[in-house]
Amino acid sequence: MPREGPDELRYDAVFLDIDGTLLWVDLDVECYVSALSPYTTDGPLTIEKATGPVWEGLRTHIRENINYSTEDELARFRRENAAKTARSLGLDAPNDVLVEVADRYISFNPYRESEEVLNELKRTGAPLYALSNWDIALKEVLDDLGWTRFFDGLVVSAIVGAEKPDGAIFEEALRVAGVEPHRAVHVGNDPVSDVRGAARAGIDAVLIDRRGGVDAPEATVVLPDLRGLPGLVRG
Ligand SMILES: [Mg+2]
Repeated sequence: MPREGPDELRYDAVFLDIDGTLLWVDLDVECYVSALSPYTTDGPLTIEKATGPVWEGLRTHIRENINYSTEDELARFRRENAAKTARSLGLDAPNDVLVEVADRYISFNPYRESEEVLNELKRTGAPLYALSNWDIALKEVLDDLGWTRFFDGLVVSAIVGAEKPDGAIFEEALRVAGVEPHRAVHVGNDPVSDVRGAARAGIDAVLIDRRGGVDAPEATVVLPDLRGLPGLVRG
């Protein structure tokens, strides 16, 4: 929706990546080990032994979740993935235990400024959209964080059927927001899926480079964290 007069903003829609931008995903391997140690068949389960396979399970989930577009399918995929990780560690645990542990040992951790910046972005009046390569359950994660209220819509790869940097998911975000590319900005931490993807779709891209040193020549702006965003959106 175009704005006029003194309230005019630089952008009419803000697209936000989630992982690595608003929060980071962590796995509590110690929790995994203590919960599943009773089920070993292949010597003691240690943190050293479990760390690789447990993180590989998360990478498998991230790589393959786009293939599962219903809750039932996703639940089955998660069960099978958890069982595969457990098997590779010589664990013989019931499936419901594995799934319950998998729910417990993953955590979604907001960056320290995320919530304050989301509040401030809301106050600019610009609609916010999550634009994320994520499984179909992103809304539950945002609900648990109390963040659903910040977003006017969620554009999620496993629901759209396309992942950033594919132009199709950016097109879908523009459609959902009802804005032209030049009136939208996408914010993310990945030089390819976020920055190149947005730039190719004609959308300004803000790279959040928390550690420094990311090479993203197509970025409109590079910020060390989220705090510069509200000013950028106001223009
Ligand atoms: Mg990211």
